[in-house]
Amino acid sequence: MGIKAGVIGYGYMGNYHIRKCSERDDIEVVAVHDICPEKFCDIDEKYPDSNIRSYTVLRDFLADEEIELVFICTPNNSHRNLSIACLRAGKNVMCEKPVALNLQELDEILQVAEEEHKVFTAHQNRRWDSDFLVVKDVIGSGEIGRVTNLISCVHGQRGVCFGWRADPKAGGGMLYDWGIHLIDQILQLFPNNKVASVYARMLSVLTPAVDDYFELKMIFDNKMCASILVTTFSLQDRPRWFVYGDRGTLKLDDFSGKRGGAAKIREGITGFNSVFTKAPMGPTRTMSPLQPEFIEEIPLPVVQGNPHEYHRNLAEACRGSEKQYVTHQDMRRAMMIIDYAFESSERNEVIKAEI
Ligand code: NAD
Repeated sequence: MGIKAGVIGYGYMGNYHIRKCSERDDIEVVAVHDICPEKFCDIDEKYPDSNIRSYTVLRDFLADEEIELVFICTPNNSHRNLSIACLRAGKNVMCEKPVALNLQELDEILQVAEEEHKVFTAHQNRRWDSDFLVVKDVIGSGEIGRVTNLISCVHGQRGVCFGWRADPKAGGGMLYDWGIHLIDQILQLFPNNKVASVYARMLSVLTPAVDDYFELKMIFDNKMCASILVTTFSLQDRPRWFVYGDRGTLKLDDFSGKRGGAAKIREGITGFNSVFTKAPMGPTRTMSPLQPEFIEEIPLPVVQGNPHEYHRNLAEACRGSEKQYVTHQDMRRAMMIIDYAFESSERNEVIKAEI
């Protein structure tokens, strides 16, 4: 029998989770709650085969004893209170990212989850994106050697954050929106390294009041640097990923994980002779291109992203038969980086950390 679920926030992500669950038989959405009653006008048309109860009053939704699991899909500033209310009502909770606005809020939620012995987890679905799986595979294979620098970029063109994302009180801005995903991905790539310092620069380029552009640098305890650059306004593309290793390099152009390339120094080659060439920057030895026979292309791995893996694990975690993929520790580490990023940008300083 499927776990009976309720969704709070019948907007874009609320509908995403209803659709996802309707394609599986281990979670069944039986109820929704939204503060905006007119949102429900299309519910029968959209989900004709299900009998989803709609609630406009949170108390009534929480009193629905059939609901075992709640998907919280509302603007970011409501996540803390809604999560705590659901946990106190005896429900397991999957909250959309970011699950809270800062570490203090998150710790309050985690405390309640522990007291109530309920699952509390975040929707970090970008762990199953094809581009990320390719990066993880190439780095994990060791083919490009020790990573010294990694750049993760997401670009939009319109320069606008729409709706509540443009409202600082709602937890708008790109650091909360994209940053929390991209930070989580990087922490997943290097589970054995600690972040030793954080620097961030957050700007409102075209959307007033919230960051529509940010750069974030995380320096790890082994001096590796991971940078994230997110902007809503760029009319030229940069690669989605660029990874420098000490034996090779990886570039992924976009989210497909199929375009780009990877190359490494051929096995057995340990040093290069000095060749003076006329490179595009002028005569040089240091920046002379390498002879092609020294370089070996690495075929990009073909990854099989499983778009259902997150929900499958969530159902098992609610049953107590598997550990949740996105752990309390994962959420705390990512949230600490977010806190430090705000502080760093505000003070224009590098913040020392041990995360
Ligand atoms: P949305 O504006 O499309 O939907 C939000 C819904 O919540 C609206 O229907 C609104 O009426 C309702 N709502 C607002 N406040 C409420 C409250 N206090 N109680 C009940 N209902 C309330 O927003 P969205 O794009 O679906 O984003 C929702 C959440 O999902 C955000 O936290 C966002 O960061 C996250 N999100 C995650 C992903 C992902 O890939 N994981 C993608 C997009 C959005």
